[in-house]
Amino acid sequence: MELYSLTIHELQDLLKKGEVSAREIAESVFARVDAVEEKVHSYIRLMKDEALAQAAQADADIKKGEIKPLTGIPVALKDIVCTKGVPTTCGSRILHNFVPPYNATVVEKLSAAGAVFVGKANMDEFAMGSSTETSYFGPTRNPWDLERIPGGSSGGSASAVAADECIASIGSDTGGSIRQPAALCGVVGMKPTYGRVSRFGLIAFASSLDQIGPFTKDVEDCAIMMNALAGYDPKESTSVQADVPDYRQFLGRDIKGWKIGIPKEYFVEGIDPEVAAAVEKAMSVVKACGGEAIDISLPHTQYCLAVYYIIAPAEASSNLARYDGVKYGYRAQGVRDLAEMYKKTRQEGFGAEVKRRIMIGTYALSAGYYDAYYGKASQVRALIRRDFDEAFKRCDVILTPTTPTPAFKLGEKTDDPLQMYLSDIFTISTNLAGIPGMSVPCGFSKAGLPLGVQFLANHFEEGKLLQIASVYEKAAAIEKRRPAL
Ligand code: GLN
Repeated sequence: MELYSLTIHELQDLLKKGEVSAREIAESVFARVDAVEEKVHSYIRLMKDEALAQAAQADADIKKGEIKPLTGIPVALKDIVCTKGVPTTCGSRILHNFVPPYNATVVEKLSAAGAVFVGKANMDEFAMGSSTETSYFGPTRNPWDLERIPGGSSGGSASAVAADECIASIGSDTGGSIRQPAALCGVVGMKPTYGRVSRFGLIAFASSLDQIGPFTKDVEDCAIMMNALAGYDPKESTSVQADVPDYRQFLGRDIKGWKIGIPKEYFVEGIDPEVAAAVEKAMSVVKACGGEAIDISLPHTQYCLAVYYIIAPAEASSNLARYDGVKYGYRAQGVRDLAEMYKKTRQEGFGAEVKRRIMIGTYALSAGYYDAYYGKASQVRALIRRDFDEAFKRCDVILTPTTPTPAFKLGEKTDDPLQMYLSDIFTISTNLAGIPGMSVPCGFSKAGLPLGVQFLANHFEEGKLLQIASVYEKAAAIEKRRPAL
């Protein structure tokens, strides 16, 4: 068994027993990167020198008997989290030369937990997309089928875990960008509750929706990563001052008598039959573990996509106003005056999808349209949130498919933004409501593509998600295939 193919908890056991060193683990992961990265393109930038220094530090700590929860564990970071002294591009030309002077809080926290950083993972430009095809640095490919997309926007973070180019990774999820690529790449992905993980140093897309979370190879590793990431941060005003439990305590606790809500609006025509069958099978496994399925309704589901595609672009248009060629990043050359510099910088610096979002958002926020669009969308958002409040009075968790289809082909949806937006149909409501959600592998299509089931819980109930996901993972015993590559 190669070290790169192991989980956090397996590697930690070996480190504790002194059977491997952090340096050996890092070398194994970088050898794997050398072997497969050309095909997959998970990374915008590798951080090998930094990683080997961190691994040496980890080995020195271990010698002193200090083993922290992530000591010596190679982790990839989506290139949307700021890394001090290491370029952070957000997948965009406009930030291709941006070197942050500080670390995001999650980077500090992972570092404090002993992690080794492999590199900065590829992503859709400014996290806008579902396929990682809008990256200025070229697309990432799905390790299970190189003709297909890995999902997005955190496609590089998901493919890096699936292809064993890291042991775990960090992504961000504004409308599904952790859960959707996790499902399409066959790994575990969690979007925590809004406010659970600090976003200080996360480049903002839509501030009322963005949340950082982990990708891992199994549910136990997800709990370990959440232990490292969660918690209040005085530097981030939306992070919540609430106790963080030890997430590992939830693993494997039984779910007898739990009510599992099945929202009728999520089991509609148009879902790929293989996805539907796999999710139904997941439901029967959960039932066999003592869960009781109950029918629920989330009546405002049909408005989620419309509401999201007002609110997210509106907030994006405001957040992205800062990229003007003055403060940081790309600046257009050969201009006559300031106005032309602004225009040319943004014209040349942003890609088509980002421009589309800025235009939609600017329109939706403009005087005379604000009430009709942003105002109305915010009202409907409150109804969507209320749907979940009502649902969680009747059930412990909600079970849905993560995505309507398995991974699609590169180029298949790039000319049709609406088709692309539809791939997030089951994940977007979670962000609008601010609740936590998790995607867990639930099988493979006949063509060998991974499929995912999504669990949703009420605010700050990540523990419940880990509980049901760990019980499900064990009982379902999904075959542990690896991509051929
Ligand atoms: N695919 C969605 C979008 O394009 C969600 C992206 C995300 O979660 N960052 O906006």
